[in-house]
Amino acid sequence: MVNPRPAIIVHGGAGRGSGEWREARLAGCLAAARTGWKAIEDGRTALDAVEAAIRALEDDPHFNAGTGSSLNQAGEVEMDAALMSGTLEAGAVAAVSGIRNPIHLARRVLEDGRHVLLAGPGACDFARRAGIPSVPAEALITRTQHERWRQSHGTVGCVAVDRDGRIAAGTSTGGTPRKLPGRVGDTPLIGCGTYAGAAGAASCTGLGEAIIKMVLAKTSVDLLGSGRSPKEAAQKAVGLLSEHTGGQAGVIMVDRLGAVGYAHNAEEMPVCHITAGNQPITAF
Ligand code: ASP
Repeated sequence: MVNPRPAIIVHGGAGRGSGEWREARLAGCLAAARTGWKAIEDGRTALDAVEAAIRALEDDPHFNAGTGSSLNQAGEVEMDAALMSGTLEAGAVAAVSGIRNPIHLARRVLEDGRHVLLAGPGACDFARRAGIPSVPAEALITRTQHERWRQSHGTVGCVAVDRDGRIAAGTSTGGTPRKLPGRVGDTPLIGCGTYAGAAGAASCTGLGEAIIKMVLAKTSVDLLGSGRSPKEAAQKAVGLLSEHTGGQAGVIMVDRLGAVGYAHNAEEMPVCHITAGNQPITAF
């Protein structure tokens, strides 16, 4: 199927106002969306585009993913990431350390196909066997992160539909600041923080404990089914989360026809979306 309306949308995390990092996060989202969009324009798959966009965000220290991840209570980085295609292939990693790009490791889990989610040291062993070099734990801790143990969130995510109508979703995070060691959030749990299906895809951010209880990403995609646009589905899903948990969250979505939408109930959530024939649009 040739899809005349490819689309991509990225988020840089729902949370409190990020002060002096506000503009940097918006610029990071724009750069990442452009990176993913280029992959789509080059004829690559939605999965490639989502992985490329998230890698760019993981490498940008202004976000809580990859380099710049939040520190847990022990002052260590433990990251979660997931990648999923609309044909239900999925790969995820939880509580991994010493990996520069957890989204790439999630991709390798997806391609390997034996399992959906690998955690902790087992995931790091898998990375070694897959030829992904480990980096010293300190390499992922930025000075700012170490000094402030920042409170504001900056998880990253991306959903896209490519020129052949393939759909994908991905999310990557260092998790909530000062989390207990071993805590796993919504991000790597398929259907919670990340989901792609035939109708569309969703990537979530916000309080993982609330998002998990609402199975928010799958709930959001299911809400597309009744003729809702991605924007309406995202608004409805965030509304349900507020009503039932009182938590804060944000969702970005794309549907199979290339419409994008997002919603959040946090102070801010930087986003950038690009659709065919249009200039990139950034917003909080
Ligand atoms: N959802 C992430 C988690 O709970 C955090 C975030 O999105 O900021 O791990």
